[in-house]
Amino acid sequence: VRAPGGQSQYEYYTEEMEERHRYHTKLAELASAALLNGEFRLYIQPQVDLKTQCPVSGEALVRWVRPDGGIIMPDDFIPIFEKNDFIIQFDFYMLDVLCRQMRTWMDLGIALTPISINQSRRHLRSPDYIDRFCAVVDQYDIPHRYIAFELTESAFIQCGDVMLTLARELHRRGFLLAIDDFGTGYASLNLLGQLAADILKIDRSLLAGFEYSPRSKTILRKVVEMAQDTEMVSICEGVETREQADYLLELGCDEAQGYFYYRPMPAEQFETTILRRRQAGELLKN
Ligand code: C2E
Ligand code: MG
Ligand code: MG
Ligand code: MG
Repeated sequence: VRAPGGQSQYEYYTEEMEERHRYHTKLAELASAALLNGEFRLYIQPQVDLKTQCPVSGEALVRWVRPDGGIIMPDDFIPIFEKNDFIIQFDFYMLDVLCRQMRTWMDLGIALTPISINQSRRHLRSPDYIDRFCAVVDQYDIPHRYIAFELTESAFIQCGDVMLTLARELHRRGFLLAIDDFGTGYASLNLLGQLAADILKIDRSLLAGFEYSPRSKTILRKVVEMAQDTEMVSICEGVETREQADYLLELGCDEAQGYFYYRPMPAEQFETTILRRRQAGELLKN
């Protein structure tokens, strides 16, 4: 690459890429010990019913908290874990953490909300995946309807029939199915035709810019309509402003997930600020 001054920028980019590579290698090396040390923490982002403005469900999102308190975000390490089989161990670990937490809440008499969980497409290769998944959930005796399994369109593109079979089996066993990041892939409509999912999670890229573009507005409206017509609960991700929330409500979108309402929070905080207040009726302000 030639910069306008005629100077080569090639070295600069290479150095930056090498540094990223070193960073990723380091994270991969730290991962196993971090798992044993409990550095992967369960965060939950509440999802809000747009009509009542009350939190009614949540999404489990991992945060890597280093011993020095530094937090590493999933986009920095999930793709690395996916390059080798560590992601398998990792996802089962997070599923275990979530189910153990839900069990604790049940034992305390705290009413649960459904929580969705992200699992890598790498699992699709192992034939005993669903049995292992169920075994974890059943070990803690969590009713399956409280767990929503998030699948992305890209997994569908890569794995097609294998993913459909898995999804239908999870459904048969009583789990909720959510299609994540809807609108970012290329198989969207095809997928919806073949899979009776319970929840459609509309990607925030469909929300971005709707204030300025009538075309974006139309597309968002049609997606919400389609979710309604196929009896899926629609959840829009990345809601950051009141204008967005108001417009989504006007469209008839069911739920919103985004910084305007809540950021992802540690599970303990989800318990105190969401579940306990919900139970006490403090969050029901119709
Ligand atoms: P995702 O499943 O699409 O999760 C939604 C992402 O949007 C989260 O990013 C969330 O923090 C972010 N978000 C929520 N509200 C807003 C908003 O108003 N504005 C903006 N700009 N962003 C918002 P996060 O937590 O960084 O996670 C990134 C991705 O990492 C997730 O995307 C998911 O695919 C993956 N991931 C997270 N936890 C796990 C896990 O335990 N296992 C696996 N396999 N993947 C995970
Ligand atoms: Mg997700
Ligand atoms: Mg998403
Ligand atoms: Mg995403």
